[in-house]
Amino acid sequence: MPSVIEDLRIRLAELEDLERARSLLAWDERTMMPQGGGPARSEQIATLERIRHEMLASDELGRLLEELRPHEESLPADSDEAALIRIARRDHEKARRVPADLKAEIARAASRGEHAWLEARASADFEEFLPYLERNVELKLRYSECFEAEHPYDPLLDDYEPGMTTAEASQLLEELKAGIMPLVAAVVESGNGVDDSCLYGDFPAERQERLLHELARELPLPPGTWRLDATAHPFQTAIATTDLRITTRYDERNLAGGLFALLHEAGHALYEGGVDPALERTPLGSPDSLVLHESQSRLLENQVGRNAAFWWHFYPVVQRAFPEALGGVDLRTFHRAVNKVRPSFIRVGADEVTYNLHVILRFELELELVEGVLAVSDLPEAWNERFRGYLGLEVPDDANGVLQDVHWSEGSFGYFPTYSIGNAVSGQLWEAIRAALPDLDDELAHGELGPLREWLREHVHRFGRKLSPAGVLERVVGEPIRVDPYLRYLREKVKETYGVG
Ligand code: ZN
Repeated sequence: MPSVIEDLRIRLAELEDLERARSLLAWDERTMMPQGGGPARSEQIATLERIRHEMLASDELGRLLEELRPHEESLPADSDEAALIRIARRDHEKARRVPADLKAEIARAASRGEHAWLEARASADFEEFLPYLERNVELKLRYSECFEAEHPYDPLLDDYEPGMTTAEASQLLEELKAGIMPLVAAVVESGNGVDDSCLYGDFPAERQERLLHELARELPLPPGTWRLDATAHPFQTAIATTDLRITTRYDERNLAGGLFALLHEAGHALYEGGVDPALERTPLGSPDSLVLHESQSRLLENQVGRNAAFWWHFYPVVQRAFPEALGGVDLRTFHRAVNKVRPSFIRVGADEVTYNLHVILRFELELELVEGVLAVSDLPEAWNERFRGYLGLEVPDDANGVLQDVHWSEGSFGYFPTYSIGNAVSGQLWEAIRAALPDLDDELAHGELGPLREWLREHVHRFGRKLSPAGVLERVVGEPIRVDPYLRYLREKVKETYGVG
């Protein structure tokens, strides 16, 4: 049925173009746009969102998909074409349930919310942000009601992790929490200190920028396929597999922040850049599982980026960039510093052990908001109380608490759990990588990331949206998502650094 499938492909390619154009507007909004562009940009994004939504939910697309049903059934289920039709149908059916007006309103409120959040965070003023956040929650609840879901959080989670239920996410995060709380307590109780003062000092932004560009090139991100810019909240977005946008932030008093943000976002970029080019301009070309996405970013940031062998090669590069600050600091001291475990306020700067408690706290609060157990206006208090319980710290102000993340400002509820579930998947993949690449430490110590990248491309990246986390793990380790390998990895790390756990 060449003509019908060809017709479908053309429509899907246009939908992809609109989505990538929207991503580019959003990237520009956060990196380049002068502040005055905000209101107009919110409208531009809402318009693109509406057009895309109308095309995706259209009767014509539905008719094409219906006509293609016999063709789809005649294909092997794992072929690209069968996956294309299946995923297009899923997107179409999801879009049909949501009125275009609501979709546009959500996009508009997200853009407005983000502008309000930037100002509210700068002045640590939650009240200023409250009406925007209330609006986002209200809209997301209306969105959720469009689906007849078992739990109102299910449709929100499904937008970030297709097919995963709230019950599954809760179960995995409970298991993680049960494994991590005692580990953090053991570190705190041991009283064993790690000196990380070498990471704080004088690190001029332009030298950080030069260093991070050098690092990104070696990761290896191919020349001519990426750019790196500065933003308030680091992120990565792909305009194409050969047009990857990475952002980080430069804190002149703290070297680790920008460095690990780069590794994290570069992990996302390697993933998007590794998708099979044949899937470009189809819905299969945009990985949509944030669990898989985060497994890739967190793996590069942590399993690789906090690994002694990795720094064997890269630490001298860092030292050359900052000879005054680091010339007299040896590799072992630097490596221990980047593995320090200590409860802290900011999620993105958190060590890899306590990080998960930051995420679990947010997930639990999101559930309470969506279930109507918690009022948005009570969020700061609920945050601070839970923070005390999990991390043992008194939150000094909302900028260091409930206002720190961009996600809720743009209506992204359901996103947070994917960070920690992604961590769990990174643990499973890391064990598989260790077994498959016995010389990995040696390669990392020589700055050779090629074999690791090839493994990831072969087993994860190239499939794009074709495989879910379960599909990837089934092929690689023959198991569903499990938290044990990741907990094993964390326990080993804590034992190595602190001698406890
Ligand atoms: Zn990420």
